[in-house]
Amino acid sequence: MPARTGAQYLAGLREQNREIWFRGERVKDVTTHPGLARGAQAIASLYDQQSEAKIREEMVFTSPKTGDKLGLSFLIPRTKDDLIRRRVQMLNWARTTCGMMGRSPDFMNVTFSAWAGAADYFGASKKEYGENMRRYYDHIAENDLVLTHSLINLQRSRTVSGMFNLQEGTALQAVKETSAGIIVKGARVLATLGPFSDEIAVYSPRLGRHTETHSPFALNFSIPCGTPGLRFLCRDSFDYEKSHFDHPLGSRFEEMDCVAFFDDVLVPWERVFVYGDVDRLNETPNATGSSRHSAHQGAAKNLAKCELVLGVALLMSKTLGNDHLPHTQERIGELIMYTELMRACIRAGEADAEPNEYGVMTPASGPIETTRNLFMTAYPKMAEIIQLLGSSSLMMLPTEADMDGPLSGHIDQYLATDSSTARDRVKLFHLAWDISCSSFGQRQVLYERFFASDPLTRARALAQTYPKQDAMDRVLDFLNRDDHTP
Ligand SMILES: Cc1cc2nc3c(=O)[nH]c(=O)nc-3n(C[C@H](O)[C@H](O)[C@H](O)COP(=O)(O)OP(=O)(O)OC[C@H]3O[C@@H](n4cnc5c(N)ncnc54)[C@H](O)[C@@H]3O)c2cc1C
Repeated sequence: MPARTGAQYLAGLREQNREIWFRGERVKDVTTHPGLARGAQAIASLYDQQSEAKIREEMVFTSPKTGDKLGLSFLIPRTKDDLIRRRVQMLNWARTTCGMMGRSPDFMNVTFSAWAGAADYFGASKKEYGENMRRYYDHIAENDLVLTHSLINLQRSRTVSGMFNLQEGTALQAVKETSAGIIVKGARVLATLGPFSDEIAVYSPRLGRHTETHSPFALNFSIPCGTPGLRFLCRDSFDYEKSHFDHPLGSRFEEMDCVAFFDDVLVPWERVFVYGDVDRLNETPNATGSSRHSAHQGAAKNLAKCELVLGVALLMSKTLGNDHLPHTQERIGELIMYTELMRACIRAGEADAEPNEYGVMTPASGPIETTRNLFMTAYPKMAEIIQLLGSSSLMMLPTEADMDGPLSGHIDQYLATDSSTARDRVKLFHLAWDISCSSFGQRQVLYERFFASDPLTRARALAQTYPKQDAMDRVLDFLNRDDHTP
């Protein structure tokens, strides 16, 4: 099947009988349900781009197996040009959502492309697992399916970091094997995009209990979201059913986060990629390069977000007439720095990319992994800068109804600035508010702090994977210079 349209994607969501729980009730149809529907529409609009004549060529590639045009984020990159081509596609999607849907489908697509390219890695522990991976990749790529994923086990205590905390009766584990597959039980967080997904991927970037080589917690599998016993519990929606004028981001890009409960769920053997093997599970992101590919996707999202925040900040300071003030320029300078760093790291990651042992072209680790760590602190600072630039203008926000209501004359007179009409000012500052103050905006800050695991774990991962010898050698060379103090 060629790359789907938005309508085909929405039809797929309606066809599968999934358990999506929201505000105390089971949702019949997420594509029409208040608080959820517009998030589904946003994803559908991304799918529509795949058949839009103007940019179609940037969005699809030809399947080597079927000759169909498939979504480009499913491309297994073999050359640097493939990586660049794929990034153009990802950036198109990211710019469409202003970077506000971090879990757009390309996030998981690039992960599975990396895994399919390295299918032998999974086959090394059991031949069938490698074949499962190849078949599954074909299935999702050829049917253009949307995946959510959940990596983190729920925890009852924080004696150790969440990544390593495996409590029986809480963390997801295999409880039984049958001829059909494994039965899993437990809970996982945080399945962003859960209500808008066809399938869920379950794995872990790292798993504790390193002393055990085999563990019922060591799992990598994917199943349809409608699998019996699988339940998604949504948080409340940040789409308050307001107009785009009043709530420009929240009314469009609510991607939703869920807890996923697995109540004796059958995972068919053909959907199992790692089972029991702790080391293989722990090493998957680095050994297959999937960590770098998902960082590449994340960096495109980051760049789109930087461009939005910088653009908004520039317009805010122009509107308020404070763009000549030194402290405004200092803040704008900081936003420019983040934007250009992100752009540069993407280019460096692509320029210095190398094929891995499976022949998959893999972005250079240093620059591309850095984008992930950088954004954990940069994005909260970017949102803070919008607050600092905006001050009370972020609260002088008449609603769309007010703009045409009895006080419209006052609004037009008093809220205009030297360079902006009241309407343009209010519209712009609603957007600034939705970036920096609204519940939607604050969830974005939380997302950037934690979506790629907690900052401590990320910092440790960078410290562990970074090639350190070069830096030490330079210092040792310096220390060993035999020049004498004059
Ligand atoms: C908006 C959002 C969307 C997300 N989407 C997804 C998704 O789609 N899929 C997915 O799998 N995951 C997702 N995540 C989850 C993310 O992977 C986790 O939030 C992250 O790994 C951190 O785990 P945790 O929330 O359990 O944090 P915790 O482990 O509870 O950590 C909370 C804080 O305590 C600190 N801490 C914890 N233990 C210790 C300790 N022993 N000593 C010192 N400090 C400690 C941590 O450093 C952190 O600052 C999402 C998270 C957010 C916020």
